Amino acid sequence: MTLLKKRLPCLITAVLVISFFLTLSACTDASHYDKRETITIVSTTTMLTDLAKQIGGDKVTVFGLMGSGVDPHQYRASAGDITKMNSADMVIYSGLHLEGKMGDVISAQEGSGKKVICAADGITEDSLIKNNDIPDPHIWFDVSLWKEAAKTVEKGLEELDAENKDYYAERLESYIEDLAELDSYVREKSAEVPEDKRVLITAHDAFGYFGRAYGFEVKGLQGISTVSEAGTADVSRLADFIAENRIKAVFVESSLPVKNIEALIEAVKARNFETNLGGFLYSDSIGDEKNGTDTYISAFKHNIDTIAEELK
Ligand SMILES: [Zn+2]
Repeated sequence: MTLLKKRLPCLITAVLVISFFLTLSACTDASHYDKRETITIVSTTTMLTDLAKQIGGDKVTVFGLMGSGVDPHQYRASAGDITKMNSADMVIYSGLHLEGKMGDVISAQEGSGKKVICAADGITEDSLIKNNDIPDPHIWFDVSLWKEAAKTVEKGLEELDAENKDYYAERLESYIEDLAELDSYVREKSAEVPEDKRVLITAHDAFGYFGRAYGFEVKGLQGISTVSEAGTADVSRLADFIAENRIKAVFVESSLPVKNIEALIEAVKARNFETNLGGFLYSDSIGDEKNGTDTYISAFKHNIDTIAEELK
């Protein structure tokens, strides 16, 4: 009895100390609390991850599935990706079969009743470039089409989080201004390249919308998807074209191996003409913080600066 009496204050102190630390840990876990207070978005490509952040600001936490340099045509969702999607409030994908190997995964998300946004949804049929009736999915290369994608993402956020409707609308408005500035910049830079030199040759047909919007003839070694390999006939045909038209430079893409373009340069050499490796362009992914190209706008500027410098 006396022993218990002696130990009782110790026990009380211990309980107090433990509850103090429990309270303390609950308070210091604020970051976790904040995360649950925001809308959780899972996006597929790096362009969309940036777009979701631009529009959602501090009301959203965005998890991008694909990193910089990842090819979306070939990307397969991992078990971890599916877990992330399952626990997200919203999923954003690009559409028009860009994520060609994620169709079932995206359908399953749509079927679960989750808010799933297809960024290409707001783009009208007659704005799409089609090859044999298949729409070209690389819509981000025409700034005016990416503006439509921004509107679609904003609309989705408004529907999901009506309380912050004005916040999203304001961010959209300001982002549309930034896009208009980018569009003018791309036009100015394009104008530095003489009209007869505006031929853009890249590893795959990602730049069709770019060509249409900014007045470049565009030729890719592979088709609008990277799923089928470029054959020797493709290399040969393109090499003829480059040698005949004396095109100064061809470009590699950040999300594709350089070997196909190197084979093309060699084939041009065999035709007694030398074309340069004109540097790399961001095609199906944007860059990273280290290179200052981690936003859609900065990656697009990198591209047009590189193109203008090499072709003018
Ligand atoms: Zn592509």
